[in-house]
Amino acid sequence: MNKTVDQIARPIHMVDVIGQYKRYQTEIDEAIMDVVKSGAYINGPAVKQFERNMESYLGVKHAIACASGTDALQVALMAIGIKPGDEIITSPFTFVATTETIALLGGVPVYVDIDPVTFNINVERIAERITSRTKAILPVHIFGQPSNMNRIMEIAKANNIFVIEDAAQAVGAKWNNQKACTFGDISCISFYPSKNLGAFGDAGMITSDNDELATIIRSICNHGASVTYNHDRLGVNSRLDSIQATILDVKLQYLDQWNARRREVANIYSSLFAPYADLITTPVTDPSATHIWHQYSILLKNNRDEVMTALKLQGIPTNIYYPIPLHLQPAYSSHGSKQGDYPHSENTSAHILALPMHSELSDDDVHYIADHIIQTVNELCH
Ligand SMILES: *Cc1c(COP(=O)(O)O)cnc(C)c1O
Repeated sequence: MNKTVDQIARPIHMVDVIGQYKRYQTEIDEAIMDVVKSGAYINGPAVKQFERNMESYLGVKHAIACASGTDALQVALMAIGIKPGDEIITSPFTFVATTETIALLGGVPVYVDIDPVTFNINVERIAERITSRTKAILPVHIFGQPSNMNRIMEIAKANNIFVIEDAAQAVGAKWNNQKACTFGDISCISFYPSKNLGAFGDAGMITSDNDELATIIRSICNHGASVTYNHDRLGVNSRLDSIQATILDVKLQYLDQWNARRREVANIYSSLFAPYADLITTPVTDPSATHIWHQYSILLKNNRDEVMTALKLQGIPTNIYYPIPLHLQPAYSSHGSKQGDYPHSENTSAHILALPMHSELSDDDVHYIADHIIQTVNELCH
């Protein structure tokens, strides 16, 4: 028996950062107090320890902590030596940071439309966008499902260009049993609180297997200095607080368990929605991918706003990632894209709806949410 409205004792959240904290409160509080007492508040031993633990978790040679996922992207682009006019091939269906950092550095985002089934960049359309000015391919592992990294690496090698993985949503995800962040020349991670591995504030990481790039990245994050007060290159201030590092280090131990729970939640949603395939399109996992479900997003035929409002009244939050693809954002209109250029991204933006997805959802919660969605969609989407 599924629960009725009155039987659900607690509110449903899109992401439950407080619920997760409470489950590990003693351990996290102790770790925080250890840092407070240590006095080493920035880039202290806790940061070094977290970097080493991320290196072994991901299987990468270098993990360099920084202040945010956005900084990770900016520093990665600086490290490959992006110059004004350089083109970076990426997806228009993502969070703004990917394109913003390219544009900030004078680069030109060159979009390739998504595959409407996985929402990731359509790898079959990348080669046709490569020019003599292409510096890198920047795939985004959207919603926690890696892009086809084997194909992207092949294209990059054939054309002698860099690959930067935007793995902000994909820590722990795999492509062909190989972890995201281990394919590209550089990879970027966000520990924004709502990400699968979330800090209690802003935090990010840059990874690489390339010793030379790693040295450059460390230096850029530290004002372009290799030795203190010796500035060899243009840099930024992008460091990680030790408190954030120690929180993340505690949480890292549970990441695989949480990602596994997200997969269970996704499976329950998909099986409950399966009989309603004419009304609800469920997200698809590529057979080569190990998805970590940063988001679980369905597609509705019509009346999405009405469905969202009706669900909100029933205590069920939903959200839209992303309502406007980046090529149609006013800030990036100077890059010359127009409506109709990337139809799969535009169509996905118009119909997609993200459901509550996190490690703290119980089976009852998921049944409750799904039942109400089915009922609401049946009423509103014919
Ligand atoms: C969250 C996110 C970022 C930015 O990370 P911040 O830590 O918020 O700066 C970049 N790219 C993608 C795809 C993201 O989801």
